[in-house]
Amino acid sequence: MTELERLIYGYHFMHDIIIPAAIKADIFPADIHKMSVCLENFAVYKCASCGKLHFASSYRCKNRFCVVCQHQRTKIWLARLLPLVRNWKLSGNYVCMLNFTMVDMVNLEFMINAINNAFRIFSHDNKNNRDWFQDRFPGGVRSLEVVIGENSKLWHVHLHCIVLQDSYERDYNELEFRWNRSCQVALGVYDRKVGSVYISAINHNFEKSILEVIKYILKPNLDLYIDPVIFSEAYYCLRGRRQVNTWGIFRDLVKIVDNDFNKVSGDFVCDDCGCDYAYVNFLNLKECKLNDNRSREENSF
Ligand SMILES: [Zn+2]
Ligand SMILES: [Zn+2]
Repeated sequence: MTELERLIYGYHFMHDIIIPAAIKADIFPADIHKMSVCLENFAVYKCASCGKLHFASSYRCKNRFCVVCQHQRTKIWLARLLPLVRNWKLSGNYVCMLNFTMVDMVNLEFMINAINNAFRIFSHDNKNNRDWFQDRFPGGVRSLEVVIGENSKLWHVHLHCIVLQDSYERDYNELEFRWNRSCQVALGVYDRKVGSVYISAINHNFEKSILEVIKYILKPNLDLYIDPVIFSEAYYCLRGRRQVNTWGIFRDLVKIVDNDFNKVSGDFVCDDCGCDYAYVNFLNLKECKLNDNRSREENSF
């Protein structure tokens, strides 16, 4: 299966891995419950005049570790980003994928704060950095990814970025120098290299690169779920944290994607009675089926 196919068919099977892992890791029971029923809940409009029910939207738990929610979010990001990036390229500009990494560490919370801080220093801490960054990268998307380092077995946190560029410049040394210095300042470590940048120009297959940046939790990263101590640390450090951030030309994209995600279907007009006022109710698929069976049984008597 290709990444694109996986995206279309979904990673819903991950639910069967994440839910038991969450129970073992002692995650808030309310969170686990919401995640496990996420696929089953939806909102309906109930017509104020005749009472007919109309589908309004899926009701999502919005948990970062919920594969149902992440699948939907990823699709929205892809739908929003692809045309913008395509247009940017068609106008004769460049798109680049950059990975910013930092040395592996023991404490995840500290490391996430440090890498975000390093990126702030790198992109706009002083006038020099700000001017350089805005000039080089007029727009971009960055996504935080957390894994266990293959060799170190410590936390490995990195930022995947899609960056827009007016022209392709091979100033790799300056890029790496500036990022490493930002990491050094963020960590207060100056005697060794603590930050690296991997650069790859996006040519024809930028869809794949965009996926790489936005899919995060959909990529089955079993390392995180096998050990309850690791999962618990990852869960509580990442819970409620924004995974994807944008800047420059893409600044408003986060808000647009959030709106898409939370949207209920447009203006309500009842197709039975023409009334345009409705109440929103939340229903559960299993309970609906139960009621449906019950009413069928009642009818057969
Ligand atoms: Zn009606
Ligand atoms: Zn969910």
